[in-house]
Amino acid sequence: MAIRKIRYIGDEILKKKCKPVKNMTPSIETLIEDMFDTMYEANGVGLAAPQVGILRRVCVVDVRDEEPIVLINPEILETSGEQTDDEGCLSVPGKVAEVTRPNYVKVSSLDMDMNPVIYEGEGLRARAILHEMDHLDGILYGERASEPYRDLEEEEEWEEE
Ligand code: ZN
Repeated sequence: MAIRKIRYIGDEILKKKCKPVKNMTPSIETLIEDMFDTMYEANGVGLAAPQVGILRRVCVVDVRDEEPIVLINPEILETSGEQTDDEGCLSVPGKVAEVTRPNYVKVSSLDMDMNPVIYEGEGLRARAILHEMDHLDGILYGERASEPYRDLEEEEEWEEE
């Protein structure tokens, strides 16, 4: 168990496409454990491997009110609906921007034994799954946002006034 260093926007690794996981190895198992630790430490709802500098198709998602999931070589099978809300990213600290995404997603993945599995998500869980999967293709949410990044703190202060 270890907290890994999160890579921030401007780091070239966040723009790269990740390679599939071919076999479950001790190093991939450790990576996944560390990704959960790092996500919880940073109070995030998801984390993708490139955010800790590893170019493999692995993400973790935990929106807290549903079971945590590990996505290995995930593929989108189906999406439906639409949701528009502020989104943030552990690699873009202190910022938010409004992003429209599907409200529902169904994805195929592999589990920790490299067996096929299917996950579904709605609302925040769908948003988190799609956001993390974008990271695997080098896409930050700002590219899908309808506006530039806004400062989260300024907005909170503004809401208090
Ligand atoms: Zn992110």
